[in-house]
Amino acid sequence: MAWIPPTRLTRTTLFLSALGIGLVVAACGETSIEAEVAGVVLADPQVDAASSQSTTAAPTTTAAPSTTTSTTTTTTTTTTLPVRPVLSSEDLIDRRVDTHDVHEPPVDATFVSTIESPASADIIARSTWNEECPVAATDLAYAEVSFFGFDGEFHTGELLVHVDYVDPIVDIFGRLHEMRFPIEEMRIISEYDLANPSADANTTSIFTCRRSVSSSRWSRHAFGDAVDINPFHNPYVSSGRVIPALATAYVDRERNVPGVITEEITAMFDEIGWGWGGDWNRVKDWMHFSATGG
Ligand SMILES: [Zn+2]
Repeated sequence: MAWIPPTRLTRTTLFLSALGIGLVVAACGETSIEAEVAGVVLADPQVDAASSQSTTAAPTTTAAPSTTTSTTTTTTTTTTLPVRPVLSSEDLIDRRVDTHDVHEPPVDATFVSTIESPASADIIARSTWNEECPVAATDLAYAEVSFFGFDGEFHTGELLVHVDYVDPIVDIFGRLHEMRFPIEEMRIISEYDLANPSADANTTSIFTCRRSVSSSRWSRHAFGDAVDINPFHNPYVSSGRVIPALATAYVDRERNVPGVITEEITAMFDEIGWGWGGDWNRVKDWMHFSATGG
């Protein structure tokens, strides 16, 4: 993630404001246990403020985050935006952002995967795992898998997943690679990510030790048995609220653009018994698949 000069930051803020994006969101009274999300999130005492994921790179590779405080006439809650490049208007409608390589990319188009089960202590240390989490660190496996980017190149992603599901999940990512399903970014969510939610999150990930967006229950991500795929292309929608906030163009699920979950993909998860958030009734969480269906 490149350092963004101050003038660019100002433009980012103005750009988002001009769009009227709901950077500040009022409390949501919804209590669905289905609500799982990666995306922007809200400084709301009833909502886990750390329940979002950011596509911002780790602090070792970016400048310090800027704080953007915004208010509306209907709420007093605020949120913080990380430092990010400005997405073009085209990106908001048909997002095809190049992948920033965190790991060395594969040498060719052959799918490569490595599994470390359980994950080593240094991997756990850069994740959101802590003693309070509902899964033991020794029940999490680490996998690196090849994936196909929107830039037409192959990349290496990383996943932290419950040991019981690492094999079928790696198999699915192998099939996504084979069908050239584009993924923008795939890496472990860090504490830094949780503290720096973004309005344009698009990180594909599994384990995150956090609560559900709209309840105090643990998210299935906290158990390591739920995956979010291209959150921006497959947003979460509840009562008109869209997360990530800039992904409103993707609420229309009839658009046939790259990165959107297809029937072929839902069938893959169906085969391993995982449910899809796109099948929920009151809430739609198109990015989300989980072992329990919740
Ligand atoms: Zn999810």
